[in-house]
Amino acid sequence: MIPRADALASLERDEFDLVVVGGGITGAGVALDAASRGYSVALVEKSDFAAGTSSRSSKLIHGGLRYLQNFDLGLVREALLERSLLVKLAPHVVKPLPFIVPTFGGKRPDRMMGVGLNMYDVMSWRRGRDESEEWSPERHRTIDGAEVLEFVPSLAGREPTAGYLFYDCQTDDVRLVLTVLSEAERFGAVIANACDVTGLVERDGRAAGVLVRDTLAGGEFELCADNVINATGVWADRLRPEELYSEEEVPRIRPSRGTHLTLPRELLDVRAGAIVPAGGGRTVFVLPWLGRTLVGTTDNDYEGDVDHVPPSADDVAYLLKAVNGFFGTDVRAGQLTGAYAGVRPLISTGDPKKSVDISRRAELYETSSGLVTITGGKLTTWRRMAKMAVDRIVERDGRDAPCRTHEIQLGEPVDPGSLPELTGVDEEGRRHLAERYGHAAQLVLRLAEADRQLARRISPELPDIAAEAAYAAGHEQAHSVADVLLRRTRLGLLDAQRLCEPDAEGPRVVAEAMAGQLGWDAARSQRELEGWQEVARAEGLVPEAAAVATAAAAPAATPAEAARSAAPAADEPAPTAPGAAPEEAA
Ligand SMILES: Cc1cc2nc3c(=O)[nH]c(=O)nc-3n(C[C@H](O)[C@H](O)[C@H](O)COP(=O)(O)OP(=O)(O)OC[C@H]3O[C@@H](n4cnc5c(N)ncnc54)[C@H](O)[C@@H]3O)c2cc1C
Repeated sequence: MIPRADALASLERDEFDLVVVGGGITGAGVALDAASRGYSVALVEKSDFAAGTSSRSSKLIHGGLRYLQNFDLGLVREALLERSLLVKLAPHVVKPLPFIVPTFGGKRPDRMMGVGLNMYDVMSWRRGRDESEEWSPERHRTIDGAEVLEFVPSLAGREPTAGYLFYDCQTDDVRLVLTVLSEAERFGAVIANACDVTGLVERDGRAAGVLVRDTLAGGEFELCADNVINATGVWADRLRPEELYSEEEVPRIRPSRGTHLTLPRELLDVRAGAIVPAGGGRTVFVLPWLGRTLVGTTDNDYEGDVDHVPPSADDVAYLLKAVNGFFGTDVRAGQLTGAYAGVRPLISTGDPKKSVDISRRAELYETSSGLVTITGGKLTTWRRMAKMAVDRIVERDGRDAPCRTHEIQLGEPVDPGSLPELTGVDEEGRRHLAERYGHAAQLVLRLAEADRQLARRISPELPDIAAEAAYAAGHEQAHSVADVLLRRTRLGLLDAQRLCEPDAEGPRVVAEAMAGQLGWDAARSQRELEGWQEVARAEGLVPEAAAVATAAAAPAATPAEAARSAAPAADEPAPTAPGAAPEEAA
């Protein structure tokens, strides 16, 4: 990425065909789509890239088996085709992941589940596809108990009888956003974070740009552009509420929180995704992710600050109860390596009878100033959402500029074996760098070669190295320790317990590496370390064990649980017979 200072100079000086507001996956996709069709594009993000929902997902690139249960076939098929395309376009960022639905006590796998998986297989198939070109998962199959245990060793105590094995895909959501942004930049888009859009610039009642506040240096400027696309996710109705709400049929956003936990793999060892019943017909995912086990998610109304969304003690207790019940474990809140939460934009028309959940459906609307807003959808379907929004602008402009993103490679994969060997960076470390950066891993290693201190691990159990913090500060517009720990590496989610200790070494290693790039003195580095602790507290990365224990001891049907079972989670996996968890249905 170009340095932020250069991007800002261009944003203040130049005029653009299009400005995109919001640097999550939707905004990144819109920037890439428009830039690759020949538009001059600016993208501004108020916080950090992917700081909103796009860093807080379940990290799945999936069709969403659950939606089959609602006969939402179009949505599933669309997402499955996107899944296949993304594995082809970004093989180092989007990877197949096996999933297991086990059965116990001599039961055979549930037939309804088998029917659903058959449909899932069929729907992921595109007629006329070139098999050598496109990724396609193996068909689902039934496996015996021994094979279930190879995929999910933590089920040993429960002696599974059999199970279904099927495939979906997994990613690092932030890395997907950064990869798409880098490609947009390659097509000429100018991109900057820490740029808060505070209003529209209007000419003759039409949007002609945005007012931008530089949240790092202070000061405000006008960014001139012929078109404005609002891709601010759960913030979408804050940009121009009076315009959005005075016009017909524009829905209101009602945020809903989803919580995830991370655990040491030794505590809960899964090598494939497991689908775990959570009571009330609901299920949660238990997934291997970046060396830890990831558990999620929940779904309930959220009225707090959407800039920092902490997991609630109720949610943590709910997830632990589901996991402990299924695996026969006794994992406690104090043993978690971290926790995080994100908000989905649930949309309501204002009429309670017309309330709809569009968190997985993309919603596009154009209001009187010409502002185009795109929200909802899924991480998986970003490319289609971007196409929808840019098609609208192209149509309005009467241009002949077809979408090209289905053929644009995202980043450049690299063979870990081809990366230079460096003392301190072992094979696992090189594989980790290749998977995260693709070819750009060379640049990270070059930094570590020039300064051997940068070959150090940030946290002892995970392969991320200090050079990544230096690279993030120098090449990826990271400005704070929190940017690096939460969104360039994912250590803030994977190892929060350790990194939030008062004298933790990891944040210090990151601050030192960033200081070298950004010219921080000792006092500034100290302030940055304090800033990290504040963010970690506001985000609730380390759940309070006592509060979780109290929530767990509360009577079973808390209002939160009742709300959850009434409204199925948008990203929840499981289809079986309607209303039945896999095991219950078996
Ligand atoms: C718990 C949970 C789990 C999920 N799991 C999955 C999954 O596994 N797979 C899947 O496909 N989907 C999943 N999703 C859905 C997916 O994460 C979202 O659909 C997607 O990330 C939304 O991206 P976005 O860019 O629209 O919004 P965001 O990522 O929230 O981006 C909006 C951006 O706009 C910025 N912004 C806001 N206001 C302004 C302003 N005034 N000026 C400048 N910038 C501004 C914000 O800072 C933010 O970065 C999940 C969602 C949740 C909540």
